[in-house]
Amino acid sequence: MRISNRKRVMVTGGAGFLGSHLCDRLLREGCDVLCVDNFYSGTKDNVHHLIGNPNFELIRHDVTFPLYVEVDEIYNLACPASPIHYQRDPVQTTKTSVHGAINMLGLAKRIKAKIFQASTSEVYGDPEIHPQPESYWGRVNPNGIRSCYDEGKRCAETLFFDYWRQHDLEIKVVRIFNTYGPRMHPNDGRVVSNFIVQALRGDDITIYGDGMQTRSFCYVDDLIEGFVRMMGAAKEVTGPINMGNPGEFTIKELAETVLNMVGGKSKLVFKPLPSDDPRQRQPDIGQAKSILGWEPQVKLQEGLEKTIDYFRKQVSASVM
Ligand code: NAD
Ligand code: UDP
Ligand code: UDP
Repeated sequence: MRISNRKRVMVTGGAGFLGSHLCDRLLREGCDVLCVDNFYSGTKDNVHHLIGNPNFELIRHDVTFPLYVEVDEIYNLACPASPIHYQRDPVQTTKTSVHGAINMLGLAKRIKAKIFQASTSEVYGDPEIHPQPESYWGRVNPNGIRSCYDEGKRCAETLFFDYWRQHDLEIKVVRIFNTYGPRMHPNDGRVVSNFIVQALRGDDITIYGDGMQTRSFCYVDDLIEGFVRMMGAAKEVTGPINMGNPGEFTIKELAETVLNMVGGKSKLVFKPLPSDDPRQRQPDIGQAKSILGWEPQVKLQEGLEKTIDYFRKQVSASVM
């Protein structure tokens, strides 16, 4: 018999960039939040402000091992997301996506919880279809340096849909496109944080390849709104559903925009393109719009301003 009637929500990867913003949002909505993280790529700093909140609990746990807790909803975000982090220990990356999904699905099955999966635009690989709709099956190298992440996430989707078909689990699968904002790890090598930190320090801005490859950048607050809407959607809404901002930019345009906004004397320099780096990426968000009434509100310039403010404080506090 439970005494509290607050909704109990678990966030795996809750000390990461997206996870910590999701914990903030859920607490604001009056949920009881259980944050589970092994601090592989996330930090206690990201949730430091929540310690002491009676509705927040943090446990150090690796999702590749079983976990026995009682909650109403699970957001499964645990997995390093930046190429530098996920390529550092690629075997662990696949284990986190695959064993982690099995454990979290097994947990959801036992306690009859709704479960959300943070999937990725990487399931489309280096796409021949543009923009990418959910119906596109993708073009993914199964044995390259990005495969630990891409194939791990594809297998996780397979597991989610098999638990749904086989065990009638309530699943919610979201394919996230490049998202940025405060609390990205300054050294995780992702393009938005790299360019901002380089510009703030007056270092060279490193463009990989010719900079003509494209990405579409979503501000974190918009994405979290989409997560919450998806979790609240009717049982038959399983996804997979794309979430991202369709505003598409070349990497060179992003570098120039960041440099203009930060100012300073950094130079743009060109470095070799990592292998299997997708040439283009833009979400087709027709489903998110029609099913969830969701679309991003924050323009790139506005989101970059907030992100630059965050990193400026980090740089001046010399914590990087
Ligand atoms: P992040 O690296 O900041 O967060 C991931 C969190 O998972 C970290 O706190 C990390 O310590 C934790 N973690 C990793 N392995 C774990 C394990 N075995 N057990 C427990 N915790 C573990 O990355 P993020 O950008 O916040 O991404 C969150 C999720 O969203 C990931 O699943 C990622 O694949 C997905 N995603 C993010 C983006 C994006 O643009 N940010 C795009 C597509 C998908
Ligand atoms: N599991 C867990 N917590 C639970 C229930 C299950 O971590 O509360 C893990 C456990 O490791 C199990 C996996 O989830 O192996 C898959 O569970 P499922 O019931 O689907 O299959 P099982 O392996 O138990 O037959
Ligand atoms: N990139 C770049 N300079 C950097 C970091 C990344 O030119 O300092 C490029 C990278 O090659 C890719 C794009 O920016 O084409 C996005 O990279 P990120 O690692 O952020 O995300 P992903 O490739 O997973 O979309």
